[in-house]
Amino acid sequence: MPPSSEQTGSAPTRTQRRRGDGQWALGYREPLNKNEENKKNDDGLNVRDRIINIYAKAGFDSIDPADLRGRFRWFGLYTQRAPGIDGGRTAVLSPEELDDRYFMMRVRIDGGRLTAAQLRAVAEISRDYARDTADITDRQNIQYHWIRVEDVPAIWEKLESVGLSTTEACGDTPRVVLGCPLAGVAEDEVIDASPQIQQVHDEHIGSPLYSNLPRKFKTSIAGCSVHCVNHEINDVAFVGVRGENGEAGYDLFVGGGLATNPMFAERLGAFVRPDQVSDVWAAVTAVFRDYGFRRLRTRARIKFLIKEWGPEKFREVMEEEYLGHRLPDGPGPQLDDGVRRDHVGVHRQRDGKYYVGFAPKVGRVTGSSLVRVAEIAEAHGSDRIRTTVDQKLVVLDIDGDDTDAITADLEAEGYEVRPSVFRRQTMACTGIEFCKLAIVETKDRGAALIDELEKRLPDFDEPVSINLNGCPNSCARIQVADIGLKGQLVMDEHGEQVEGYQIHLGGGMGLNPAFGKKVRGLKSTADDLPDYIERVLRRFRDQKEEGETFAV
Ligand code: SF4
Repeated sequence: MPPSSEQTGSAPTRTQRRRGDGQWALGYREPLNKNEENKKNDDGLNVRDRIINIYAKAGFDSIDPADLRGRFRWFGLYTQRAPGIDGGRTAVLSPEELDDRYFMMRVRIDGGRLTAAQLRAVAEISRDYARDTADITDRQNIQYHWIRVEDVPAIWEKLESVGLSTTEACGDTPRVVLGCPLAGVAEDEVIDASPQIQQVHDEHIGSPLYSNLPRKFKTSIAGCSVHCVNHEINDVAFVGVRGENGEAGYDLFVGGGLATNPMFAERLGAFVRPDQVSDVWAAVTAVFRDYGFRRLRTRARIKFLIKEWGPEKFREVMEEEYLGHRLPDGPGPQLDDGVRRDHVGVHRQRDGKYYVGFAPKVGRVTGSSLVRVAEIAEAHGSDRIRTTVDQKLVVLDIDGDDTDAITADLEAEGYEVRPSVFRRQTMACTGIEFCKLAIVETKDRGAALIDELEKRLPDFDEPVSINLNGCPNSCARIQVADIGLKGQLVMDEHGEQVEGYQIHLGGGMGLNPAFGKKVRGLKSTADDLPDYIERVLRRFRDQKEEGETFAV
């Protein structure tokens, strides 16, 4: 046997590295870490039966640890953080010490599409089983907290009775498929992607073919003219374009993602007809499954494969080894700079009716208030409610002479249809209240920050996004916000460690995508945050030149 690079002290050769990366397609099937071993021992999808037949009956203590901290995710279940553990201790405690006996549960809402009956079911589950918690996530899901394993079968039964599920809402799986909330109604959309989202969901979600991917896999499919579902940062994205002769189809992007190594997705340059989307999705996903790097979790997302191969090789392997035919070349999407992607406010649909987009604060709502949203929608003749990727909601199909009335009803529930710029564009991840990885608090602080900035800068109306994360992961997309706040412990003026944020400035997507810059040493304690942001925004307002916006 030749000496290893460790023995020789030399850099690993390409072959050694490939073997070490555990790529299935190269014949390396032996699990190289605990997660891979767990997935090999039993498919995550098999945990459903055990939850229904064993764990829900025998209770939390009966749960096999490999299921609890692994396979439960395949059905959108994570243990939540035990209350009262500060962020500074997160890194030194074992998973057992951080675990609560309650779960976070994520309901996948593909395309963000809900009927009033579905929203009511989601809301009633929150009220009846989740202590009235319901966060609208930045991937169009609804997330509960305080779920007991004993209640999971009843929750699933209720969700499934209205056509919803938690299948593959988390785990190393194809997560919820993002879609434009205005699909099918927007006046200026390139193509209505709803049928393709449904087809991908129906044909592939819950299939054992894709239930053991190297890591999570995020999809967006949309023909939205303002690209509201962020194709730049999804693992695979289909973006509505017009091909030859004006035929509507999709441009294909692969390899976007944030977290600790942010990368924007690469265009493959292929034109995908609507009837090919499901097959192409399957081919891209299978390339990831078979060639993705499985040794290190930190290198397992598809973006690292794209980085190593480049888009040309990826496209060639995908077409030749998986799809079985070449796709024609196609045009890139039309991108505008500086457009608001959030669909908040009252706007016309192409059928002459109106949609009404509104803003809960940092995505936090209650089941009881969501019941009211379903009632309000129905009272105003709508059966279509949508979640957005900005932690907002939209009601479709309102008559023109009814928009003021529904606006008043929503605002009476605390949902702003014409929110301040701060309420409109501030997002926060789950944070230390429930997330085991968190170092700092986010939701309450984000809500308080909105209140404070509205008070201090009542006339500020420049679009500016402020995103708060509780740790270095990027669940709230800090690197592509105008002001991104990464939670960490910082020193206060007395030399004490306190909760705070590292500040990223100038991130954005669209025509000139950029990751926010970390200015060395630019941090704020949580207490100083409103002062810091007020200073930045005042300075911008005082010094800005004609036509200049805060965004890059
Ligand atoms: Fe948890 Fe960190 Fe994600 Fe926030 S960014 S939800 S703290 S993992």
